[in-house]
Amino acid sequence: MDKQILIDCGSGSLLQLEKAGKSYKSIDTVFITHTHPDHISDLIPLVQALFFTPGFKRRKKLLLVGPKGLKSFYRGWVPSLMKLPDTFPIEIIEIEEKIYFKGFSVFSTRTLHSENSIAYRFEAGGKSFVITGDCDYDQDLISFSHKANLLITDCSFPDSLKTRGHLTPHEAGLIAKEAQVQKLILSHIYPTPYPDEDRVTECMNVYDGKIILAADLMEIEIR
Ligand SMILES: [Zn+2]
Ligand SMILES: [Zn+2]
Repeated sequence: MDKQILIDCGSGSLLQLEKAGKSYKSIDTVFITHTHPDHISDLIPLVQALFFTPGFKRRKKLLLVGPKGLKSFYRGWVPSLMKLPDTFPIEIIEIEEKIYFKGFSVFSTRTLHSENSIAYRFEAGGKSFVITGDCDYDQDLISFSHKANLLITDCSFPDSLKTRGHLTPHEAGLIAKEAQVQKLILSHIYPTPYPDEDRVTECMNVYDGKIILAADLMEIEIR
């Protein structure tokens, strides 16, 4: 897999990419899970930066993949805020179920969160990872994540603050256990009065595989 991909592009993504030493200039494809601001708001600065960075002229296509509604989001917002790029093409695909790229495949499934939210499964060279985006507990997500090498889940709130449309650590652990995934990353951590680390403990009550609490700039190798 030799493509540079970005999954979701919420507020601060461009800055964090720079901190991680990854250039926004080389991104080939952005996969969007849904159009809530915390997942898409830096898409506009990204397009702006690719078009207006002094001394940089992008030629290669930027591919945007997302759920139904991504095209209308883009057409509704971007032209009203900036001149559209004319040095490189932008293609938008509203993914139905799967897309095959050279060297990797991408699958999607609906999640119980918003009217257009989806999860992604990436497969390449016999390895796989699933990123749920925002979601709630559901059986579909378990079969979709079956035996993934890595599962990255929503874990917005601790067990005691269950909120509809988001996973608790217990639920994330149940999905990981039932899907028999190799490793679990708890992400999309909302600030609460409780220590974030408590979520790992709560999740361990259900899932006995490796659990990692997501942190900014974390690097994970899938083996
Ligand atoms: Zn959301
Ligand atoms: Zn979110």
